[in-house]
Amino acid sequence: MAARKFFVGGNFKMNGSLESIEKIVESINNAKFDGTTEIVIAPPALYLLQVQSELKGPTEVSAQNCFTEASGAFTGEIAPQQLKDAKVHWVILGHSERRSMFGDTDKLVAEKVKAAIEAGLSVIACVGETLDERESDKTMDVVERQLEAIAGNVPESEWKNIVVAYEPVWAIGTGKVATVQQAQEVHDDIRKWLAKRISPSVAEATRIIYGGSVNGKNCGELAGAKDIDGFLVGGASLKPEFIDICKTVK
Ligand code: PEP
Repeated sequence: MAARKFFVGGNFKMNGSLESIEKIVESINNAKFDGTTEIVIAPPALYLLQVQSELKGPTEVSAQNCFTEASGAFTGEIAPQQLKDAKVHWVILGHSERRSMFGDTDKLVAEKVKAAIEAGLSVIACVGETLDERESDKTMDVVERQLEAIAGNVPESEWKNIVVAYEPVWAIGTGKVATVQQAQEVHDDIRKWLAKRISPSVAEATRIIYGGSVNGKNCGELAGAKDIDGFLVGGASLKPEFIDICKTVK
């Protein structure tokens, strides 16, 4: 079984301008990467094509969301087929900000994942517990419930197109990163769950990345954990340290 390729995603969220995003792309283009890490950046939808045309090298772009339908009267939404048409091959789905603020329930997230996979996209599927849920020992109940919804909609053969992002809600944008032990424990549980629910080979091959206040200082230690296969980076993806995170050595 080939080793899992380290994966770093940069989620710009609703940040940036033509000018500031161009500078980020420039810094990525000027960085020397050794090819050991797959890098995908997710600017706001408005800037996807600009970024895509400016990026040199293998770094790809990702949308931050998409809808379930191929076309129609869905004002403000983007179809997975439109992303595919525009050669945007990745989409982040189930981000906690979408779950908590925009009505992305487990069911809707699962439908979006199904639609995206059927359209031929790759998905960064986000799961994670709130602080309350962690403190009441419900972390894995929540994560398994979120994963189960997705698993019900994705055939085994399509898991190669999914990266699972474990993002504890209490760590996102808070500066409060999970400890290596906390993250490794959940990543290990997710891998065991994938082995049981999908198959041992899917569990072995699926990248499980960590998100939540990753920065240039803590990325090295986190990457040392056996089951952390990369990061989804929010705030720090807008800063020069994103390059250092992309160069994390596993
Ligand atoms: C995110 O938005 O996915 C995220 C992990 O944010 P941050 O790195 O800012 O915590």
